[in-house]
Amino acid sequence: MKAEIISIGTEILLGEILDTNTQYLSACLPPIGLDLYYHSTVGDNLARIVDTLEGALTRSDVIIITGGLGPTEDDLTREAIADSDAERQLRAFFAARGVSFPERNVKQTMLIPSARAISNPRGTAPGWWVEKTLPDIGDRTIIAMPGPPNEMTRMWEKEVEPKLAEAVGGQVLVTRTLKTVGVGESHIDEMVSPLLKSSNPSVGIYAKPDGVHLRIGAKADTPEKARALIYPVEEEARRILGSIIWGADRESLEGMIGGLLNERGQTLSAMESCTGGLLASTITDIDGSSAYFKGGYVAYTARMKMNLGVSADLIERYGTISSEVACDMARAARENLEADYGIGITGIAGPDEVEGKPPGTIHIAVHDGRRAEPISYAFYQGRAGTKRRAVTTALFLLRRTLLAARP
Ligand code: AMP
Ligand code: MG
Repeated sequence: MKAEIISIGTEILLGEILDTNTQYLSACLPPIGLDLYYHSTVGDNLARIVDTLEGALTRSDVIIITGGLGPTEDDLTREAIADSDAERQLRAFFAARGVSFPERNVKQTMLIPSARAISNPRGTAPGWWVEKTLPDIGDRTIIAMPGPPNEMTRMWEKEVEPKLAEAVGGQVLVTRTLKTVGVGESHIDEMVSPLLKSSNPSVGIYAKPDGVHLRIGAKADTPEKARALIYPVEEEARRILGSIIWGADRESLEGMIGGLLNERGQTLSAMESCTGGLLASTITDIDGSSAYFKGGYVAYTARMKMNLGVSADLIERYGTISSEVACDMARAARENLEADYGIGITGIAGPDEVEGKPPGTIHIAVHDGRRAEPISYAFYQGRAGTKRRAVTTALFLLRRTLLAARP
């Protein structure tokens, strides 16, 4: 069965808010056996919503709509779903009399036949589940959910997904994502090239902010059968890629290091320069991080680094952008804050060179109290990308250090 998603709202169309509803729902449809073929976004305009919906009805079995269900005048989803024949007749009626169509009146005059309200305990506007049989087209299901993401996700999980999955009763898609760091997309592509020829499971490679992901997806009648198809391919991918895989599916590096530090009752601190606090911010994305994260310095200038105890001699001899200084930043952060581990990051977020070194030059170190373990590389991918990659690499290095020290 084919599905498509329509999000409604002028604020989404004009880029004022991100369409996270579509992103969320897109990931939910293939696993219940729906083939997703289109996304559309329409502003709060009845004629264009009806037009989009009619297009969707000609080509998709299931149409999922979010937004436009509220009580205000610009919330038009219900009206749009209302029998479009009736609406067309009404428009023709006005057109024949040379009178412009009174969009506002539509709200009161239209009902949705065969519609069932879907309860919404988190808000006031219910959702709508509509079954239609269209002559010459076939059976269609329209599901309209409210725009606010917390209302939509609850409604989807509790009310819509279970019933829809049952109604679809088709093949399920199960995916397994292996996450790597430290090796580029094209190199990984070469390494796993024998696996890329398979179609079920299919294997894809995606560069993400936290490294390159290998996604294995299989279709089967049941999730168990799909997982059985994935298993040997995952084994082979793990054999080929080995230790550059750091996690799978929803795992995050910051979550994993949080788990390891918590388990061991150990603590962490940081001194970062070019990442400007992104490392501390990422570490503290984990709830409960206060148990193991003692704090982080954003030491942007050489002076601030020295004030915090980084060796002036090392800075003079090797430059602030050096592996030696990264190691000393890790040591100083660890000592100042009396943590078990310290992380130091120094480098060039770009776009210009510094100390004669190219943008994207990054030195990272983790100090465990006995020694500092450094990683250095030079790879420029814009300021934001360079900072994000440095944070990912720092967390990867810390994870490796923690695993090597396993008690
Ligand atoms: P609406 O029901 O269209 O009036 O939407 C109410 C609010 O929900 C909007 O102002 C947004 O804050 C949020 N919202 C609506 N649609 C989306 C969407 N597709 N993605 C994320 N947030 C949305
Ligand atoms: Mg709206």
